[in-house]
Amino acid sequence: MARIDLANIRHVYGPGADGEPQYALRHVNQAFETGGSYALLGPSGCGKTTLLNIISGLVRPTEGRVRINGDDVTDRPTEKRNIAQVFQFPVIYDTMTVRQNLEFPLRNRGVAVSEIKRRVDQVIEMIGLGALAGRRARGLSADEKQKVSLGRGLVREDVNAILFDEPLTVIDPEVKWTLRTQLRELQRRSGMTMIYVTHDQTEALTFASGVVVMHEGQVLQVGSPKDLFEKPAHTFVGYFIGSPGMNVLPTRVDGASLRLGEYMAPLSSAPRLRGSPKLELGIRPEFVRLAAEGIPATIERIDDIGRHRIVRTRMLGHAVTAILQEHEQIPADPHIFFEPEGVHLYADSWRVDLSGKQTP
Ligand code: ATP
Repeated sequence: MARIDLANIRHVYGPGADGEPQYALRHVNQAFETGGSYALLGPSGCGKTTLLNIISGLVRPTEGRVRINGDDVTDRPTEKRNIAQVFQFPVIYDTMTVRQNLEFPLRNRGVAVSEIKRRVDQVIEMIGLGALAGRRARGLSADEKQKVSLGRGLVREDVNAILFDEPLTVIDPEVKWTLRTQLRELQRRSGMTMIYVTHDQTEALTFASGVVVMHEGQVLQVGSPKDLFEKPAHTFVGYFIGSPGMNVLPTRVDGASLRLGEYMAPLSSAPRLRGSPKLELGIRPEFVRLAAEGIPATIERIDDIGRHRIVRTRMLGHAVTAILQEHEQIPADPHIFFEPEGVHLYADSWRVDLSGKQTP
């Protein structure tokens, strides 16, 4: 198991339509600690697969270095990096049985027969294909094949890391949840370094202890699910994580308060700002209350989703979403109140901490 360091990584596949270099990764510095479980999370095209392929060696970065346990492996091919990778679609041998497919990576490396049996039995149980172990892969369904592919990634114990590129896309939703839970347990028990690419926040938040949120070729924030929820470092993180995402409204700073039109939202202290950045107030719908006093609002829509209600309002010309618990009343003449602990200030999209520092 290993620590992986990416230093000053940039990657260009080729020029864009305007002839200028199109950066798939703009500037990435990122450490993956030994035994950590990470998710690379972001919308389609943000550079997740490129980053994963740079770690495994399938793609050589245009700039920057990749280190595994301190060794510079940037110029080493994939097979010299000792990394297992599981792709979105099955990569297996159709003419081999399920068991033979799983044995293959171990036989190739001269692992003892008894050890091969022990490992393969374990993995077969985990992926739930015991009844099909003797069947040729050719006859399996798409999700059974993908489970075999997943098993091939998990069967070696000596790898530096296991990389998963949206491995559960073709798997049935019910089974997906079980497999993800098992993967997480395996990661915790074995202490393997795992990096999991997904654009699904539930998948990322339930699998990883470190979620790496990416957008347009950059890492915006790395944190626990709690960090991403409570202190989104960038307005995009606030918007992308959470359902519905964070409300973002134009604001001005007035001493230790944020000003919205003629109304004020208090801050715990006065921020110190450099230059004249674009200022925005961010507040998650969970911290928006509908009260008898506050900023006047009109209700545009209410979605009752059982556990709570999502209330879409308009306030000072802006859309503001609130999440209300079932017992909370909606006043006849609604006003909006922001719970102070949920109010964040953003300067040019980055969160300002109240000592005045911008992140990062
Ligand atoms: P997805 O979730 O859709 O797989 P992603 O976040 O994994 O997206 P990448 O596949 O890494 O993103 O792509 C990042 C950018 O690089 C995109 O603009 C994509 O079009 C471009 N790109 C990726 N692979 C290539 C390639 N082989 N040649 C040219 N451009 C590429």
